[in-house]
Amino acid sequence: MPSHVKLVAVTKTHPVEVILQAYEAGHKVYGENKAQEMKTKQALLPDDIEWHFIGHLQSNKVKYIAPFVELIHSVDSLKLLAEINKEALKHNRIISCLLQFHIAKEETKFGLDYEEACELLESYEYQSFKNIRLCGVMGMATFTDNSELIRREFKQLRLFFEQIKKAYFPLNDHFKEISMGMSNDYPIAIEEGSTIIRVGSAIFGERHYT
Ligand SMILES: *Cc1c(COP(=O)(O)O)cnc(C)c1O
Repeated sequence: MPSHVKLVAVTKTHPVEVILQAYEAGHKVYGENKAQEMKTKQALLPDDIEWHFIGHLQSNKVKYIAPFVELIHSVDSLKLLAEINKEALKHNRIISCLLQFHIAKEETKFGLDYEEACELLESYEYQSFKNIRLCGVMGMATFTDNSELIRREFKQLRLFFEQIKKAYFPLNDHFKEISMGMSNDYPIAIEEGSTIIRVGSAIFGERHYT
């Protein structure tokens, strides 16, 4: 894997022992998709772990992760961003966030379309937020064996990133991340310009939901 790509090891559903083992082997960056699960694990694990929130986040759950979260990948509304800003202020922090785009064929996946993202960025309310920092974009490709479809979706996300960078963040060095690529598609994502991949089952094996 190229050294400019950051690996978020996705440990959702796995117990803290699994994380501790990977931590002791030297990995410090972990991803979770449920706020309470992340909070519980964070309290039990070393302080120098970087916690990335990758799942759909409800506004009323932001409080669980605001004290420590490193990057929220899944911002998909102004309302959520306002809540993150509010909770970040309470803890005297600036929380880094990515805008999640809907790039997949599946309707069930979350995320903004391009116009919605522009509306958010142009809103007066967004421009008043002092405790969030937008650092880029995130997306999930369709779950499929069709690698050409996956590649097209990742190309689309990269294009959104470049257009938004140019229009809204031209002189902002923080706006530089493209979070795309999971176990079944991260090699394509890296070819298409991913800077952060989120990989679970390819590292820890299949998840068992109980
Ligand atoms: C679970 C999850 C991943 C990791 O999925 P794997 O297929 O296990 O690699 C990545 N991103 C998000 C948003 C997830 O929910």
